[in-house]
Amino acid sequence: MISGLAPDLDTGGKLANRISVSKKYLNTAVRMIGILLGCYAYFFAKGSEGYISYIGSIILLFVLPRFSNKFMLMLTGMVITFVGYVLMAIWMQLFGIYVMIASLLAHRSYTHSLLGVAFYSIIAYYLTIDFPLNGLFKVCVLAYMSHLFADMRFIPGNKRGIKPFLPYKGIEL
Ligand SMILES: [Zn+2]
Repeated sequence: MISGLAPDLDTGGKLANRISVSKKYLNTAVRMIGILLGCYAYFFAKGSEGYISYIGSIILLFVLPRFSNKFMLMLTGMVITFVGYVLMAIWMQLFGIYVMIASLLAHRSYTHSLLGVAFYSIIAYYLTIDFPLNGLFKVCVLAYMSHLFADMRFIPGNKRGIKPFLPYKGIEL
């Protein structure tokens, strides 16, 4: 299911909203960390460590919460990548990178192309190494491709199609 929705992580819609914890909740969490960091700076930190902590605290309290869902999605990707790094799970690191890249892309661009399929296949490959389930790789890749198929122009209701051969823009399906 996640594989089938993953290409639309470039929209800030659907799965993107579900994966990047609701903005309100995330903002509260970010502000809490800002307050903790501010307390740390006030009570414990000395010298440059203190200044850096104060700046970090101000960013967390007043700057970050103003950003859009796309930025939140970028942060989510960073967290996924970091957790994947700590857990030494390559698939999770790659998925985090996928989320970060998707947050920067225009809708229905690279995530909806063969390059996207290739990148996602590598994620699925490493996922299958950690979870050696029969058919898992196929399900991930086919679910991903089914999304691209459903977004093609000949399907009723799609005003825009996909450009499967990006960066070559000549063919739109
Ligand atoms: Zn789509």
